[in-house]
Amino acid sequence: MVKNPFVTLEQVQEIAKEYPTPFYLYDEKGIRENAKKVQRAFAWNPGFKEYFAVKATPNPFLMKILHEYGCGSDCSSPAELMLAEAAGITGQEIMYSSNDTEPEEFRYANELGAIINLDDITHIPVVEKVLGRLPETMSCRFNPGGVYRLSNGIMDNPGDSKYGMTEEQIFEAYRILKQKGVKHFGLHAFLVSNTVTNDYYPALARTLFELAVRLRNETGCSIEFINLSGGVGIPYRPDQEPNDILKIGEGVHRVYDEILTKNGMGNVKIFTEMGRFMMGPYGALITKAINEKHIYKEYIGVDACAANLMRPAMYGAYHHITVLGKEQLPHDHRYDVTGSLCENNDKFAVDRDLPEINKGDYLFIHDAGAHGFSMGYNYNGRLWSSELLLKEDGSVQLIRRRETPKDYFATFDCFPVGKKLDEIEDREKF
Ligand SMILES: *Cc1c(COP(=O)(O)O)cnc(C)c1O
Repeated sequence: MVKNPFVTLEQVQEIAKEYPTPFYLYDEKGIRENAKKVQRAFAWNPGFKEYFAVKATPNPFLMKILHEYGCGSDCSSPAELMLAEAAGITGQEIMYSSNDTEPEEFRYANELGAIINLDDITHIPVVEKVLGRLPETMSCRFNPGGVYRLSNGIMDNPGDSKYGMTEEQIFEAYRILKQKGVKHFGLHAFLVSNTVTNDYYPALARTLFELAVRLRNETGCSIEFINLSGGVGIPYRPDQEPNDILKIGEGVHRVYDEILTKNGMGNVKIFTEMGRFMMGPYGALITKAINEKHIYKEYIGVDACAANLMRPAMYGAYHHITVLGKEQLPHDHRYDVTGSLCENNDKFAVDRDLPEINKGDYLFIHDAGAHGFSMGYNYNGRLWSSELLLKEDGSVQLIRRRETPKDYFATFDCFPVGKKLDEIEDREKF
């Protein structure tokens, strides 16, 4: 399949006059259409709710758009809770799915009325102590251990992952919670990231639904929601078949009827915490080619770097690249596309066949809408880019300004650093 950018060269040239590259650009139309489709896929379940995983794209403007379609927030840090609050998302529209949590975080989550999803059984006394008593609604995170298989092979290795409770612990946790007055129970698991198959959610649902029936039977707890969490992936590569969320919804529905409805649990709500699937394809990193270098290989240097988009450097992840305006030209040049970090893994593409790239060309780096900007960092003193929203009417809205040298120096404001801090110039070019 051909991966098409959601903007043209002409649009980007126009945008870049006001907002210099590099910048993140989000496609409002795509976000809205996808969010609607997710709601449709699970409309069979009256209590369905998607809690958008804030860490994927922590921008209140985007969180607000999703909120219009009923999406709440899945948070796992105090600042993420603050973002949810800033976006007007509070109460049980927040899921606190944290791990390695500090006691004060539970207090803050509880103040907002969030549902606390416990990663570990040892957190029960911690929550009880910090809140005085346990909330009436609580959820527990399950880790089945071992390796997780679908028909197409091993998906991941939960036995090696730090999350969740063992089966034995989760039974014990439910008993303790019930005895301590918890009335409404949830069950959660996140076993595999970025699955590009329609079978993952239905398979996970089967695991969790069967467990829920046993938990209800053996502990008497009222299980009111089952949280399939994240992990629904996107086709980063053009040859990958995209997930069909409608099929995924149907698949979960089938297992739901087969296991839950049949066991008298036909009113359980289905929750999800998708991040990547909600935003990934609808955000791009736009960067300009600023250098070419011919040594043992051919290099194109761009004005973004791994500090703006870390996935290729960190995981060797593939991000498709379109050279805007050259979509139709033959891909007869082989390049490494690099950023400026003094780290040789700072490459957006390695040995990639692309059209001939000239200085000044704009590159559209696809599928950066989730786990893109949010994984940014400041290595080499590189600053964060702006984030822009391409609205449905074609206009562009700044939804986060780029970082300036003053921002970078802000945490030195507690002592003098040579030149007085307020004299640090926000140099126009940087
Ligand atoms: C990261 C995360 C998600 C979202 O994962 P995606 O792969 O973006 O769908 C959901 N829930 C929890 C607890 C997470 O840590």
